[in-house]
Order: sequence, then C-alpha cells, then structure tokens
Amino acid sequence: MMALSIHAQFRMNDGHSNLSQPDFTMVEKNSNGRIKSVRYAATDPNIPATAVDFFNSTCIKCKTDSFALDRFQETDYGMRFERYQQYFQGVLVDDGYYIFRFKNGKMKVVKGNCVNTTNINPQPSLTESEAIDSYASYLGVRKCDIIQSYVDLMVKEIPDTHRKGTTVSLTYRVYLRTFNVTDCFVGYIDAHTGELLLKEKAYYSSSATGQFYTYYNRNLNDQPKSGITEYTNNKYYLADNTRGNGIHTYKQNQSGSTEFFSNNDNIWTRDELGDYNIALDVHWTMEQIYDLMNSQFSRNSYDGSGRLVKSYIDPLATNSYYIPNYDDRFIFAVALGSSVYGPFGSVDVIGHEYGHAILCNTTNFQNGQIGDPKNAIHEGLADIWGIIFEKYITPSADYWKTAEQFMIDGSSCLRNFQNPDDLTAYTQIASTYGHGVFYSSDPHVVGGILPYWFYLLVNGGTGTNGYNNVYQLLPVGFELAVELFSKTTLTFAYLDGCTSFSDVMYAFIDAALDMNNDFLAEQVENTWYAVGLTVEPTHIHNMSYAPGSATYYVYGNSNCTVNWSISNLFGSSPILVPNSNDYSCTVYSNASFGCYLNATINCSGCTVTYSRYISGTSSPSSAGDDILRVIPLSENRYQISLSSRSDGKDKMVCIKVYDVKNLQTKIHDNFEKEDYIFEMFSWKRGFYIIEITMGKKKYTTKLSVR
Ligand SMILES: [Zn+2]
Repeated sequence: MMALSIHAQFRMNDGHSNLSQPDFTMVEKNSNGRIKSVRYAATDPNIPATAVDFFNSTCIKCKTDSFALDRFQETDYGMRFERYQQYFQGVLVDDGYYIFRFKNGKMKVVKGNCVNTTNINPQPSLTESEAIDSYASYLGVRKCDIIQSYVDLMVKEIPDTHRKGTTVSLTYRVYLRTFNVTDCFVGYIDAHTGELLLKEKAYYSSSATGQFYTYYNRNLNDQPKSGITEYTNNKYYLADNTRGNGIHTYKQNQSGSTEFFSNNDNIWTRDELGDYNIALDVHWTMEQIYDLMNSQFSRNSYDGSGRLVKSYIDPLATNSYYIPNYDDRFIFAVALGSSVYGPFGSVDVIGHEYGHAILCNTTNFQNGQIGDPKNAIHEGLADIWGIIFEKYITPSADYWKTAEQFMIDGSSCLRNFQNPDDLTAYTQIASTYGHGVFYSSDPHVVGGILPYWFYLLVNGGTGTNGYNNVYQLLPVGFELAVELFSKTTLTFAYLDGCTSFSDVMYAFIDAALDMNNDFLAEQVENTWYAVGLTVEPTHIHNMSYAPGSATYYVYGNSNCTVNWSISNLFGSSPILVPNSNDYSCTVYSNASFGCYLNATINCSGCTVTYSRYISGTSSPSSAGDDILRVIPLSENRYQISLSSRSDGKDKMVCIKVYDVKNLQTKIHDNFEKEDYIFEMFSWKRGFYIIEITMGKKKYTTKLSVR
C-alpha cells in the first residue's frame, strides 16, 4: 500500500541519523497508521513533485476526505511552505493537516496528521442552537445570561479515558460568553447525541468583526467602519490575524511600555480611546491597504511574504515614520500639544509610511545618509504610494494633497502635488529638478518632483518649467500610471542600485519599455522632461521613405485622435494624406519644399500639438534625419550612414558629436571616410547630437544611447 519511495525506510526510535539531510527517505507513522512525517533523501528519485502528488501517492486521501491548501509562504532563501487542512465531506477536521517544506522547489519534509474519519456521519442531528442549549445546561448557565456564543461544526479526535488512544466524533465546539460567569472553557458537544465529550481550558481566541468609530474616516451619519479584531478570554483586541501574518495595532504608553488596545464589546468609540483614537483609523486603514495590495497588486503584505504589520500609536512622537530592518514597525504620532498637526492618522499619511516599507522590503531601496538624494527619492516615491492608497481606499478624499485632514495651523494641506507652489500648503515642493526649492534641506520638498511628475503623467497638460522650457504632455490616466508605478516599485529589478534622480528616471522609462507600451514610454520621458530631468523626446517619428513620399507617425492610445497639418511652408506644396487606423500620415512631393509637419493630438480631453521640420528636394526628406541614418549594429555600437539621396561626391566628411546636455562638450570630432561606426561603450546614457559636414552642407541628427 505504501509506495512512497524505493529508498524508504522506517525511522527507528533510537535513530541517530542526520535529520536535515538523511541518506534515506525516512517515514514516521502515528498510532492510527497514518503518516506523521516524511524526510526525503536528496537522492530519492521518487520525491513527489507537489503536495497533491504526495496525497495521491501515499493514499492518505480516501474518497470522502480532502486536503485544501489554506496557507502558503515563500522565503527569500529558497523555501516554500504549504499547509493543507483536512476536510471530511466539507466538514473541517480539527488536528487534520499536513505542512510541506520545499527547498528550491523540491519537497524536503512533510509533517502532520490525518484523522481517521471512517464511520463518521457528517450530517449533524443537532442544530447549533441545540448544541448551545446542551452546553449551557452542562455549565448551569441560564439562557438569558448568555451574551454571545460561538459555535463551529468539526470532526474532532477525543482522547478516550477508558481505552488508550482516541475516538473520532462529529462535534460542535461551543464557547459561551455569559454574565457573572468567567467561563474559560470550550465544550465539544457530540453533534448527534448532544453529550459533552470534552471540556478544554480555553485560551479561546477567534477573529471577530469590530465596529470602529474612526477619527478621520467618518461618513455623514458617522456609521462605524468594520474591521477584524481578535477575541481572547472575554476581550477584543486590535489584532487581525486573518490577513497575512497579521495586522497588529499597539498602544505606546508614555512610560515607554507597549500593549494591545482592548475593548469589552467590540464597539470601539472615540471617547473610549481618548487621545489614542486614531488607532482605529490606523488599524482599519492597514486592513484596507492589505486587501488592496492583495487584490490589485497580488502582494501579500509589504514584503510580498505576509509580513506582520505592527503599528504603534505614540503620544510622545511628533511625526509618523516607518522603522525598517530589525525593528520593522510603524509609528503614528498623536501629536499632543502640537499647534501645527492633529494626530497622524489619515489614509494618505498611513499609505506614505506603508510606501516606505514597500521600498525597504520589496525593492530593497533603502534610505541613505543625511543629504543623500536617495532620502528625497524615498520620500517622493512614498508620497506616490500615499496618493494611490488614498484614491483607492477613500475615493472622495483630495488625494493630490497630503495631510489635508489634520493641519490645524490654517494650512490647506502639508504638500500639494497638483500645485507645487501652493502658498496655502504648509510647504511648497520642488517642481523642476535642480531649480528653486529643489535645494531645500527637507527631503520631502526635494522629493516633491516625484509626486508632481506622477500628477503630470496621470493628467497631462501644458506648461513651462523652471528652466522656461515649454512642455506638452498627454495624459496616460490613473490606472496606467499606477500600473507603471507598481511594476517599477514592487520589484528589485529597477530601483535597486539607483542613487540619483536620473537613475530613477531611467528605471521608470525602462519599466515602460518593458511593458511594450510606446505611448506610455514616450509620455514617461516627456513628463521627466517637464520636471527638468532630460531633453524633450521626439514626438513625430519617421516610418519610411520611398521615392517621392515619406510616412510619419506619433504614438497614441485608444483614447487619442490625431490631426495632421503643415505650416511655415516654403517652396512647392507637398500633399499630406492622413492614414486611417493608425496615428500616421504620408507626405508626397516631387519638388523642393521645407515646412513644419504638425500633429495635433487629442487624448482624453487634453490637446497638444507636436511639430517637426521636414524638407524635400526632388523627393521629400527630413533635414538631417533623412540624409543621416543611425543604424544600431549591436548594443552601444552604431553605424552612421549617408542615404542614397546625398550627392555622394564628398566622401570625406567631418563628424562632430555633442553631448546634448552641454553643447560645448564635444565627444567626437574628426574627418572620416565611408564607414562611420561609433563604439559607444564608454558613452554615458543620454542624448547626443551628431553633426556631419559634407562640403558646404551641414546635417544634424539626434542619437539616444540607452
Ligand atoms: Zn516619509
């Protein structure tokens, strides 16, 4: 019957084997003959690939029993843990479970117990209320003294006092909370006979749904919010053990000691909590954030592995913060006596701190020393998480402002991400890299260009930045911006190793390119241009040249329409034909001309006009871009070639390459022949202007090195 493995041997009681790496697969059984543990030898050729294979191959499962995955966890050291709960025809079997430990995907150890459910009738003869009555009569409790009752139907192994071993029964586990009686026992009532089979000392703990009269998150009728609490020995605690490894909210006493918040009836009022009443906002918000991370971003807590969320409500602190590494906790200030701030318990501020935790744990993007730009980047990215959480959790809130709920000094908010210069905000934030308040010593102010960049990416718009550069942005919308932001910040792949704002810019551009969304990638680059971090990207691209015609296109999405036009024309008039079904047009001409080609794009109500100078001789071309072709040969290796439309008489040409950020910096300056191949291994990522002089003609084109 047991076909575990050809190497299987049964463990001797006095075995001295090395348990962590046994030479043979070792199987241990319990008194009912079912498997208690299996430790697989690494060399065993018959290790089950999955838990399901294990159940099938060991015949533990008979046709009425099932095992369902109820918990799993993955570690960063290559382990995966799975727990399977036994059910008998849909009824939970207490003490029936198996826990699997996989190392690098390979099953290593199985431990657990399978309860023998033979001869159990899973249909109870008693109702839940009859079970409660039965238990109450055993306890001598009057029905009117019962405040609350908890009943669960389950199959239970009952220790048999007469014979050795156990018997298995269908039972109701009953716990009664009563007036005048401190009942610290749970009773197991036979679900067929009503007999009390077992009374256990109860450290009875179960999840309950509490009602929170939150401080900040109130609706018009002040209806309470619902949240999970833990019920233990007649009291409710602000502890939710149903989400990941838990969400626990603690009271930090003035003396420095900490304790759980507790409550008698699970209806938590602001008055009962006094100065600590934001504990209800914090607990509820952390639960909402957990659910959002889970449903929207497929993340189990901020580290992706169910990390326990520990929040401390602190009457002595003057701010809110997240402490990473060994301490790993959130602090939320009550701000007693402050004339500027109320208690730090709004969704955006809690979400901001949660954002720090994501960056420190999921991406390993840590803060630096004082003055390190990474601190400002951390603050800016945390603000964006605050925006996202506030919009999704409390959509009616003004999510482009932070802390608008708790400024008590007359300020409209702490920071305004829509309007960085807002004088009614407590602090103004940087809107252009290296300009204005960007040189503040406050990392929240410096990092402000990141939430402002995010605002521009979502909403688009036109404007002029601190360098007097005019920008025209198309909106990508909140959902797509969130997708980009979460894909970039919920992995180590992009942000780890970034030390500057420029690195962060490329991280987001890389992520957009990895999403295969050219429209998004261009607007991401365009918004970084708007906040002063790079040059304006090309908006009108060239698709093809053919004798007498050239085709140009812009990037759009399904919300965009484009209108093409020509302006500032000299020479003969070319024919412009918009192409249907994409964002392109074709220009036809057989005579010389020069003009601007304009694409007016309307996207979700936002209109911009992008322009590009094009010209033609006997057939149309686009200034230097047409004569000069930049052909990537391999990464960091480009060939500059002259098109057939150059007259070709001058084989000797002068080539100069400039760094676009500083046109004084010449990267390359030489006369060359025919093959112009640039090796760019030592070139920094960025934009370069290539200028080629042939005889009296000068052509330029732009080259981007990624
Ligand atoms: Zn912060």
